Amino acid sequence: MRVIQKYGGSSVATLELIRGVAKRAIATKNEGHEVVVVLSAMKGETDRLIELAKKAHPNPEPRELDNIVATGEQVSIGLFALVCQGFGEKVKSFLGFQAGVKTDDHHGRARITDLDPSRIRTELAKGRIVAVAGFQGIDRHGDLTTLGRGGSDATAVALAIGLKADICEIYTDVDGIYTTDPHICEKARKMERISYEEMLELASLGAKVMEIRSVELGMNYGVAIHVRHAHSQATGTLILKEDSDMEKTPVRGVTLSVNEARITLLKVPDLPGVASRILGLVAKAGIVVDMIIQNRSYNDNPETEKMTDFSFTVPLNDYAQTLELMEAAAQEIGAERIVGDEDIAKVSLVGVGMRNHAGVAALMFQTLAKESINISMISTSEIKISCVIEKKYGELAVRALHDSFELDKAQK
Ligand code: ADP
Ligand code: ASP
Ligand code: MG
Repeated sequence: MRVIQKYGGSSVATLELIRGVAKRAIATKNEGHEVVVVLSAMKGETDRLIELAKKAHPNPEPRELDNIVATGEQVSIGLFALVCQGFGEKVKSFLGFQAGVKTDDHHGRARITDLDPSRIRTELAKGRIVAVAGFQGIDRHGDLTTLGRGGSDATAVALAIGLKADICEIYTDVDGIYTTDPHICEKARKMERISYEEMLELASLGAKVMEIRSVELGMNYGVAIHVRHAHSQATGTLILKEDSDMEKTPVRGVTLSVNEARITLLKVPDLPGVASRILGLVAKAGIVVDMIIQNRSYNDNPETEKMTDFSFTVPLNDYAQTLELMEAAAQEIGAERIVGDEDIAKVSLVGVGMRNHAGVAALMFQTLAKESINISMISTSEIKISCVIEKKYGELAVRALHDSFELDKAQK
């Protein structure tokens, strides 16, 4: 078999842990498999590098920042290779570009556009373990790029596709995909299997155990993904196509995201084109809006202008820029005041079974009400419901919802 093994930051946080990871890769090879290892930076290293860059310049240019943050993964693969050699193993490490990972030129959030794994194939044929730096690639100008936080997962899945691997193993600090973050809710239950679709929703709603694009890639190419613990032999969770064997509960998971902020434009004239003008400005800046609420204030006097309050959420990273944009445009849009709020959390329920179940939303609202948690925004899709609440209640909400939907109990 050809196996891709991706080890996350916490799994390679120390030299001792890298030794453990190397032993695992070697053991897999000794079972007769071809092994490609994708490594993240040592835990905390990417954050450290970003902070360092910000000390050099408060608003680092993305191209230069990429040159800095990509070094974290470079160190990991070098150390891994040396440790393997210390064990007498044949190994070669490659940076993203050497492994043929081509991307677009959106520094800091580049997308993989193409893969040329010929050098990896050559080394595998020589009987070597190949270690690849995750999270990085090269654009058409020959510049180094990074794929966005958690991007090593995407490197691993892309390599699994390009190398036609039999399995893509994502090794991390938990046993698999749980019904919610096991670090928030001790009753969280590990799932044996989960569909790509559900995993994609969980990932995009805040379950950082798998990065969003990696799940998207896996889904598009049908890659078998196994999420498991780096330092345990226990079977983890398989991510695969939805099938009739999967659990039938309407809700499969609860997520919490504290990486968003809300901006409200108060008293905007309620005229055609207002939403398009506001959101057009945000989109032009490349900022992705998630939830949107427009509240028409009731006014039955035909003589006076109708007003509306307009709120939307953006990623926390883009909050300051969006606030500046809106303040600059407030007069032109005709808004009386702009209010920002970073103190929000989004809790969501996810499950393909929701398609055929009424009452999920009602129980969700009832549960939050019972905890005296106020809901300020709601959005739904076929397989998820999200509520925006005050940040300080985020974890409480997760535990309460996990309890009321009885996610600790397996159901068929
Ligand atoms: P790595 O460094 O291995 O990439 P991450 O920190 O990116 O690991 O992801 C693993 C973390 O994801 C876990 O420690 C856990 O706190 C968090 N997590 C959030 N939601 C879930 C979930 N539903 N199942 C498992 N882990 C989750
Ligand atoms: N080191 C990068 C990060 O911390 C990529 C990854 O870990 O997947 O986001
Ligand atoms: Mg990760």
